[in-house]
Amino acid sequence: MPLYQSQQIKIYNSLTGKKEVFKPINEGHIGMYVCGPTVYSNVHLGNVRTFMSFDMVFRYLKQLGYKVRYVRNITDAGHLENDADAGEDKITKKARLEEIEPMEVVQRYTVDFHNILNVFNFLPPSIEPTATGHIIEQIELINTIIANGYAYEVNGSVYFDVHKFNETNDYGKLSKRKLDDLIHNTRVLDGQSDKKNPQDFALWKKAEPQHIMRWPSPWSDGFPGWHLECTAMSTKYLGERFDIHGGGMDLKFPHHECEIAQNEAAKGVSPVNYWMHANMLELNGSRMSKSTGNTVNPGELLSGNNKFFSKAYSPSVIRFFNAQSSYRSVLDLTDDGLLGSEKGFYRLMDAVNQLPALKASGTSSIDIVAWKQKCYDAMNDDFNSPILIAHLFEAAKYINQIKEGQASISSDDLRTFKDTINIFVFDVLGLENNSNSDSGTDKLSGAVDVLIKLRQEARANKDFALSDKIRDELAEVGIQLKDGKDGTTYSVN
Ligand code: AMP
Ligand code: ZN
Repeated sequence: MPLYQSQQIKIYNSLTGKKEVFKPINEGHIGMYVCGPTVYSNVHLGNVRTFMSFDMVFRYLKQLGYKVRYVRNITDAGHLENDADAGEDKITKKARLEEIEPMEVVQRYTVDFHNILNVFNFLPPSIEPTATGHIIEQIELINTIIANGYAYEVNGSVYFDVHKFNETNDYGKLSKRKLDDLIHNTRVLDGQSDKKNPQDFALWKKAEPQHIMRWPSPWSDGFPGWHLECTAMSTKYLGERFDIHGGGMDLKFPHHECEIAQNEAAKGVSPVNYWMHANMLELNGSRMSKSTGNTVNPGELLSGNNKFFSKAYSPSVIRFFNAQSSYRSVLDLTDDGLLGSEKGFYRLMDAVNQLPALKASGTSSIDIVAWKQKCYDAMNDDFNSPILIAHLFEAAKYINQIKEGQASISSDDLRTFKDTINIFVFDVLGLENNSNSDSGTDKLSGAVDVLIKLRQEARANKDFALSDKIRDELAEVGIQLKDGKDGTTYSVN
């Protein structure tokens, strides 16, 4: 019997603002779509956090025995600056600045994205469609929306008629906005004069002569709107109505609101049963964002080569840090927070490493079955990973008690106990046990610490030739020493 038959998940549905019992459209199967990156620059840790949260959701659903079709797209065209309907395409702009082809930009940052996800031990999605690979589907969708009376063409561009749509449907139901308020709050920007109303959004844009990424269509040589891409790709692979749609909180409006409108206008149905939104990652108290420059790249955090943090952190420590708060909470990335997570992670790994040596004896003095269910209950409650981690620390306590002979465990329970820990630590949280205290990495870092100490002694003895030699030779093998007010730290290139 698959596990999902005995476990009931509740998901916080952004559409209704409530935690709801999850029931897939087809028993045993789940269709899940998550908006992927726009591949015009290196992913920052904020992006990684959102994808990491959905990686955990994907992992847990699979763990319950569901057959999950997880679609996460690559946006490689149509996403304009400021998420607006006018302005330059983000990818074309980068191509112009770097004097390379737009598709070289796409290739470079798609490869970067995949590399980063590998480092963080992500499971690949089932399908990773690109916007440029689905132009035909998008044109078809526009034709249907025009035929249904919810879009109009002006000068080769096609716009979605939000006011017409709102006469029969509820535009704003996901983001809890009212069209009247939007009317009062929308600034009319240059270049939007083709629209009947400023709230309308582009389904197809006619390309200016200098715009390189263009495709023929019934209306003009041009390119599709960003919102339309996700509607075309999600419904192509998951059906007109599917189970879960995820993305970062910042995509709720207008992106996801427009996805709902497009699907209702084209197919007459709301596309998604459960809308999930991951909250934002902040860096030292303010939102991490490419546009403000308040970002740290994963590589910089992993190598320690950055101006924000005192040392390098491993991918699993960062995953653990992320899982220590709910995907729905804002998470502030700070050195203290990461140091705390690192300690916690090692403590958990130390406990996991004791598991093979644990011995069963007699009957259990701990209720392992109840503990196991508590782990599932935590994840069933809208993927509450911080509570799950609290139960895993409870398990670490049991491990010590059993080891010290203060508690006993039967052989059946021991098997369940080990399996459950392995399932949640490795399969669900996606942590990797490659940075425990016995690992090569830690021995190496111990060795660097010894060299740092020797260098300090050399400096204290005014033997600067030796202290410089230690610094320079370490630099030659890719280890940079940094002298700060709290002593010397190092980073690995
Ligand atoms: P983009 O490439 O900008 O379209 O963003 C890709 C994904 O990362 C989207 O789901 C965004 O919502 C998400 N995202 C962007 N900034 C952050 C942040 N600071 N924290 C969490 N998620 C973010
Ligand atoms: Zn999207």
